[in-house]
Amino acid sequence: MSRVATKELLGEQLRSLKIPGAARSVESLARQAREEKWSYEEFLSEVLAAEQASRHESAVRQRISEARFPEVKTLDTFDFGAASGPSAPQIAELCGGSFIDRAENIIFAGPIGTGKTHLSIAIGVEAARKRRRVLFLRAADLVRFLVEARDARELSRLQRKLHSIELLICDEFGFVPFDRVGGELLFNIIAERYERRSVILTTNLSFGEWPKVLGGDEKLATALLDRLAHHAVVITTKGKSYRMRKRLDGDAPSPPPTELTPKTPRVK
Ligand code: ADP
Ligand code: MG
Repeated sequence: MSRVATKELLGEQLRSLKIPGAARSVESLARQAREEKWSYEEFLSEVLAAEQASRHESAVRQRISEARFPEVKTLDTFDFGAASGPSAPQIAELCGGSFIDRAENIIFAGPIGTGKTHLSIAIGVEAARKRRRVLFLRAADLVRFLVEARDARELSRLQRKLHSIELLICDEFGFVPFDRVGGELLFNIIAERYERRSVILTTNLSFGEWPKVLGGDEKLATALLDRLAHHAVVITTKGKSYRMRKRLDGDAPSPPPTELTPKTPRVK
């Protein structure tokens, strides 16, 4: 068998067996193997390692896309010097993801523009890179999906789907108040996850203001906070909006705030 024919046949075989990562690297690995006189076993192991790496990468890409981050933010673009509240070692620890193993929560509380969403996404991206199931939703969208699902008699399906998510990021709790039904549906999701699945919640409200979002229902607000905060790291961000400060410092204008970007991801 000629080398060219073998090369073509090999590529075809690997593709038809759905081993595309190996198909992409087999030729250059074979060249390297000849030059460096690898054993057959070494060569085969390198080809399989290429396939493993490619599968890992596509699984991570898939997890990140399923998480529906409004944009992908990471820690390397976060300036801890400009942030007051979160510390770099604490956030790095959370990016390690052990809080997800322990089904613990994170609450980011603080004024607008202080990096709550950025840090939540960064932690979520790291979790997705570890192939965890992550979902990012604004609190208002989450409640809307729950209400819609209930109206369509599909609530338990959505609840099951949400429960399969290992890290639920509920952003902007407090921007939009909920009616009683919405508040109770949100409470059910949080209560269901208690000690079983992790939540990251971001809010611009102090804890005393929570009833305001839940139609003035003090009991519901206390019950919600109780479930969320029992095993939670609470990170309070402080200070002026990072974007505003940048603008006042005379930097180039920032892109439009993510909060204003219309986005209505479907989770059903
Ligand atoms: P919040 O969710 O607290 O309202 P965001 O996380 O959306 O704030 O931050 C607003 C914008 O400012 C985003 O573009 C974010 O990337 C940026 N930002 C906020 N704090 C920092 C920081 N300390 N370093 C770098 N960028 C920051
Ligand atoms: Mg935000």
